[in-house]
Amino acid sequence: MKIAVIGAGTMGNGIAQVCAMAGHDVVMRDIEQKFIDRGFSIIEKSLSKFVEKEKISDAEMKDILSRLQGTLDLQDVKGAEFVIEAATENLSLKKDIFRELDAIVSPNSILATNTSSLPITELAATTSRPGKVIGMHFMNPVPLMKLVEIIRALPTSDETMRKTVELAQQLGKTPVEANDYPGFISNRILCPMINEAVFCLYEGIGSKEAIDTVMKLGMNHPMGPLALADLVGLDVVLAVMNVLYEGYKDSKYRPCPLLVKMVEAGYLGRKTGKGFYDY
Ligand code: NAD
Repeated sequence: MKIAVIGAGTMGNGIAQVCAMAGHDVVMRDIEQKFIDRGFSIIEKSLSKFVEKEKISDAEMKDILSRLQGTLDLQDVKGAEFVIEAATENLSLKKDIFRELDAIVSPNSILATNTSSLPITELAATTSRPGKVIGMHFMNPVPLMKLVEIIRALPTSDETMRKTVELAQQLGKTPVEANDYPGFISNRILCPMINEAVFCLYEGIGSKEAIDTVMKLGMNHPMGPLALADLVGLDVVLAVMNVLYEGYKDSKYRPCPLLVKMVEAGYLGRKTGKGFYDY
């Protein structure tokens, strides 16, 4: 089937890649050619690793690339039976994209969003097909991570749910169903855990190394929560905590003042070279 992916960034290029690997024709749209080019070079690197590991052949890699098309023109998504939006995490931007998509693609097509934290029900309400809007929350890096959280908005139909679960399975992923409430399941649990680890540091209960070691060796987590915060980005963790805090109006989700202070300082983790650790 023809699948359109909106956004060629970290998530968009990964989603486009797994869709093409599963045999679909994929159109990947972004707003500047340099983002498309960057997306394609990441896809090529990732596919080359699959070839090196003998998971796919050279010929298969060529085939997969031939099924991928990059575009700046939103009209090229016409004919897509399934659209997966993975543009920048911004509600008003995503609402505009959903309005535009709704006018372009067939009324039978499903519009999915990869949002980590925005209300999918509100995106659904901007379209003339709210029953065909759903969350499809892939994990980073998409080609390697098994989980896809499938999020049912209030108006999402059973048929949309079923088709989306089937697509995720066909992509080789394990779908897990969740309802559209702040943070869904993944970030509702992950970000408060990270935030609590920051509180332990803030209150002097333990050093950063102690906190991370407890969770690694004591709980068998592959990475400690503070190191994980550096990987995810402290700004992203803070944004999710604010979504939970506002969404549930519950003080248990208040972001730790140290987390806020570090974001104010620009210590966002790996991407700025400094977070809880130095890079
Ligand atoms: P990113 O910044 O790497 O990529 C976003 C891309 O969207 C950019 O290339 C940008 O140019 C493009 N874009 C902006 N407006 C557009 C438009 N109108 N049409 C097409 N493209 C447009 O961001 P990302 O990390 O890939 O995140 C994308 C989405 O995935 C967000 O909703 C985010 O919450 C979600 N998400 C991210 C992660 C992660 O670990 N990075 C994990 C799960 C979900």
